[in-house]
Amino acid sequence: MPLANGRRSLSIPGPSVFPDAVLQAMHRPAINIYDGELVEMAYSLFPDLQKVARTTDTPLIYICNGHGAWEASIVNTLDEGDKVLVLESGRFAVGWGEMAEAFGVQVEYLNAPDRAGVDPQMVEDRLRADINHEIKAVLVVQIDTASGVWNDIAAIRKAIDAAGHPALYMVDCMASLGCVPYEHSEWGVDVTTSGCQKGLMTPPGLGFLHVSDKAKAVRNQLKRGSFYWDWNRRMDPEMFYENFCGTAPVQHIYGLRKALDMIMDEGLEAVWDRHATIGAGVRAAVAQWGQDGPLEMNIRDDAECSNSVSAILTGSIDPESLRSVAEAQLGVTLGNGLGQFAASTFRIGHMGHVNAPMILGTLGVVEIALANIGAPFTSGGVEAAAKAMAGGVA
Ligand SMILES: *Cc1c(COP(=O)(O)O)cnc(C)c1O
Repeated sequence: MPLANGRRSLSIPGPSVFPDAVLQAMHRPAINIYDGELVEMAYSLFPDLQKVARTTDTPLIYICNGHGAWEASIVNTLDEGDKVLVLESGRFAVGWGEMAEAFGVQVEYLNAPDRAGVDPQMVEDRLRADINHEIKAVLVVQIDTASGVWNDIAAIRKAIDAAGHPALYMVDCMASLGCVPYEHSEWGVDVTTSGCQKGLMTPPGLGFLHVSDKAKAVRNQLKRGSFYWDWNRRMDPEMFYENFCGTAPVQHIYGLRKALDMIMDEGLEAVWDRHATIGAGVRAAVAQWGQDGPLEMNIRDDAECSNSVSAILTGSIDPESLRSVAEAQLGVTLGNGLGQFAASTFRIGHMGHVNAPMILGTLGVVEIALANIGAPFTSGGVEAAAKAMAGGVA
């Protein structure tokens, strides 16, 4: 007897669950896009985007998904033949690097240790060896959505400084902005890339950059040109139409305004804490399930596990059978494994608009699905999660 009828639940790591209030804010006809309410509302987004990334550096909004934000970051900082160092810890930094390669950039990949985050010491050693400063930029993701790792962005900054290296520091916060602590300015990040459809709870369609003065200076020395992605024209506050390089994304502006209001009302740090408690709950459930069986977090050290997405190693259990029972019979869509993790993991997204019943419901469904497919696991994961999360309740 299927138990899927009722409100369907999406537990994938992006797009995330969109609050009804955001969807309702978007459900409106277009209005004047040249002046008036829309223009004022759009400009009100920029200071709040600075607040979520903790910076006064220039924020930009592109009409695109995360890949578009990546492309914007590349075409504004790198010329053909330039060299970059990509710090790989899963799948997504490689994707960013492959995009740079398509623009003729020379990409060197430095892999994180197995099932762990980027090792800052390795970064320092590699940059020290680059005595002629050929590496123009260091690219890393804060949270890798495939491996579930949470990289230490502040420690990598220290490693770059310890090596005395002038490379631009570029950080992908697609799966982490508005989920875990991030300090664009304090950590000396030059370019932050992100998007609206994960922690920022808005349907896919907006990509964000935050850029430092150092990055802007690099842009002004480039030989490469771009019209759509060029950030210079988009920074002119007198030219609203130029800020979006054409028609403004009217409904997305209303949706993002609502989402940022929700984050500011809750308090950014309270949002981070909520993610931390929910992440701890998921990890407690996985530890319980795996007591006497193959299930475990893909990332070995809990301190390096993301609070916005969990990648769970399944060993002898087929992750696709688990996902298909969860989706078809129990109404929850779980995340699939990506890339090299496809056959060995499934993922639970817990970013953005996620509360206690949503995550406990998802974990309960995983437990039913595990039993249904006859997987070896120890029950009691939901109870373990509830215990772990109780500490997060004021
Ligand atoms: C989702 C994601 C991307 C890509 O975003 P798209 O909107 O799918 O283009 C890039 N990096 C990370 C870490 C992500 O999680």
